[in-house]
Amino acid sequence: MLHRGYKFRLYATDEQAAVFGQFAGVCRLVYNLALEQRRDWWWQAKANTGYSISYASQCRELTKLRAEFDWIAAVSVTCQEQALRDLDKAYSNFFAGRSGYPTPRKRGLNDAFRFKGRECPWRKLNAKWAVVKLPKIGDVKFRLTRDIPGAIKNVTVTLDALGWHVVFSTEVERAAAPNFGPAVGIDRGVVHTVALSDGRFMDMPRERLNVLDRRARKQARKLAKCKRGSSRRNTAKKLLASTKAKMARVRLHWNHERTAEIARTHGVVVLEALKARNMTASAAGTADAPGRNVRQKAGLNRAILNNAWYQFEEFLAYKLAERGGELRKVNPAFTSQACSCCGTIDKASRESQATFKCGHCGHTANADTNAARNILMAGTQPALRTSVGEPLKRKPMAAAYPPL
Ligand SMILES: [Zn+2]
Repeated sequence: MLHRGYKFRLYATDEQAAVFGQFAGVCRLVYNLALEQRRDWWWQAKANTGYSISYASQCRELTKLRAEFDWIAAVSVTCQEQALRDLDKAYSNFFAGRSGYPTPRKRGLNDAFRFKGRECPWRKLNAKWAVVKLPKIGDVKFRLTRDIPGAIKNVTVTLDALGWHVVFSTEVERAAAPNFGPAVGIDRGVVHTVALSDGRFMDMPRERLNVLDRRARKQARKLAKCKRGSSRRNTAKKLLASTKAKMARVRLHWNHERTAEIARTHGVVVLEALKARNMTASAAGTADAPGRNVRQKAGLNRAILNNAWYQFEEFLAYKLAERGGELRKVNPAFTSQACSCCGTIDKASRESQATFKCGHCGHTANADTNAARNILMAGTQPALRTSVGEPLKRKPMAAAYPPL
């Protein structure tokens, strides 16, 4: 069973947007009230009734609450029940040790509400536009950027810095046919976002991201100058958030497109197991032991985060699984120093950031492509490597992998 989400921007009227805000607010209130009840009154409830507070008991109380307050009854009951269900899930995750203790939802962070799929039929208006019918709200237009395959289980309306969006969560029953596409190794780097072992490079739209990054930094400086609590500060904050959301969207789109392309054409993909989180840890150090090259490291951090490698890996994993492919991860040690032709490991072979020239056999290649081929071999022919760091015990692979 595959679960997928399809997100589209909603083009709501001002009145509809106001109703969205009201829905999100009431659902948040219900969630927070229910959290408070479970957190602060669980022992009393148990003493009085002999039972713990549960999703079912809170649903019964919700019915009473709705009878009492018209403005709570004005919001779809499903959305409120879904909020209670979320809380129930949050508690079971907590008790199972999968997450921390549930925290209250906040305005500006948790502005969302969810319907059941069968409550929200949608229809196409033309090739570009569609409408979704939301209970108690009515028809809302959205920009149909792609088809929505599968059975719709849930429909979530959510707010981010770019406005209100709708997410259709679908379920598809499909057993992926095995993918017999060729294997490929991928090296993730700073010069090229990814280098493939077949010699291709894929790069993020760097100019676009740089333009947005400069804009974001300018807006951040402006924000810093605004007085706390002023309306000017509020506007500056919103502007900065929307620029950052745009950058995230550029990276998201790129990652989706590229990983789909790779997953379509390859059966096995080998990546080096990077700990991006460690690599992006601040180099600033402490007052007693200040770090070195803090500025340079900060630049690298930005590059790594910009490239959003983690997202790339996540998307690739599920897209491969969907298509019957496989993602393998290998130890990244020496992949950039070993020769992909004869296996000799030599630091000096790495002539520069861009070129690799083996001092042993003379093999010359782009440094990232060379690393990608090492990664591919480590993932597909692990028996050839006796231990990490030792030269690969094998004959030159020139026949199978001709030098580029
Ligand atoms: Zn060599």
